[in-house]
Amino acid sequence: MNDLLIRNANLPDGQTGVDILVRQGLIVEVGKHLTVSGLPEIDAQANLLTTPFVDAHFHMDAVLSYGLPRVNQSGTLLEGIALWGELKPSLTQEALIARAMQYCDWAVAKGLLAMRSHVDICDDRLLAVEALLEVKRRVAPYLDLQLVAFPQDGLLRSKTALDNLKRAIVMGVDVVGGIPHFERTMADGAESIRILCEFAADHGLRVDMHCDESDDPLSRHIETLAYQAQRLGMQGRVAGSHLTSMHSMDNYYVSKLLPLIREAGVAAIANPLINITLQGRHDTYPKRRGMTRVPELIAAGIDVAFGHDCVMDPWYSLGSGDMLEVAYMGLHVAQMTGQQAMRQCFDAVTTAPAKILGLERYGLVPGCYADFVILDASNSIEALRIRPVRRYVIRRGTIISETAKPIAKLNLPGRIAEVDFRK
Ligand SMILES: [Zn+2]
Repeated sequence: MNDLLIRNANLPDGQTGVDILVRQGLIVEVGKHLTVSGLPEIDAQANLLTTPFVDAHFHMDAVLSYGLPRVNQSGTLLEGIALWGELKPSLTQEALIARAMQYCDWAVAKGLLAMRSHVDICDDRLLAVEALLEVKRRVAPYLDLQLVAFPQDGLLRSKTALDNLKRAIVMGVDVVGGIPHFERTMADGAESIRILCEFAADHGLRVDMHCDESDDPLSRHIETLAYQAQRLGMQGRVAGSHLTSMHSMDNYYVSKLLPLIREAGVAAIANPLINITLQGRHDTYPKRRGMTRVPELIAAGIDVAFGHDCVMDPWYSLGSGDMLEVAYMGLHVAQMTGQQAMRQCFDAVTTAPAKILGLERYGLVPGCYADFVILDASNSIEALRIRPVRRYVIRRGTIISETAKPIAKLNLPGRIAEVDFRK
């Protein structure tokens, strides 16, 4: 059961012509020209085989709710938050589950098999928490869904948020969230970080906060988050999401901040599609891009992932669950067009978020789960360029999604041709 031989694959690290032997859902051998017979085989045809895509930052309670109860006219973060507030009272568990399950189908077809989703805990009914825990249970055979207890209205700004957050953790939510820049004052923001990090440390939980999602260069909650992570010995278990204020910070201050983040083992999660859309909204021209300093964070030795954040919800009207689209936008916004930089952008939607989420047995070496995506591209840079179909998506050695190679047939004056965008 779940035995498989994959032949002639190219790997993201540049190896070509690689065979992978899978037994009982695990990789047992990786090498050239493996001599095994009698197993089901996939000929990868010198296509790229990668570990699955991982989304480090998502909001599955809001997914596919675009237009409910109305469309975000200004397109701003604050109108999005207000709109979410209008939608919340009318949410039902059935609708939340149906939308999330539909999105998980999209994700699987795109080779996205692990996600960290924030779930708003400021509705005292905790409807969304119950719904997403049910979704997590249903998709577990094919998709790893990690949930973050997210106090959207502010931990201290909302009366019941801390109690609700603790209840959500008891119910089975995995990670402690926060939103310090949305608290009433900078001091309250810092205090919320202290409370949440101490709670997480006491309970052995990871932390992932929406942090400094602002164009205000003086929004410096990432400094406090790094301080608390370091003080509480939480290295490798804390992430700061967005960190967009770093885009606008003073360069000298950032030169001190980067080593502090590195020392604290805090990871950074940028959300390029959303950051380029929502930031810089108070600027005339020049307009700031607003995404955090991705190449500089990576150069400082900090783990950096790209998240999708939103798909068709009060904040973002587009998106399809394709993490290559996310990485493609990320590399443009960060101007990471060099060969190594583009490979880092591919890593930011695969290996980097897998590390941040703490996924086990994720990799392409013996002992890892046989979870793969085979794309219609030769290498990771070509995959970013053409964002091809996912020919096969494989979970624990079983094909769970298959897409045919699309071929355009041209009928031109004097010439019949097929189009292949690959070089
Ligand atoms: Zn978010």
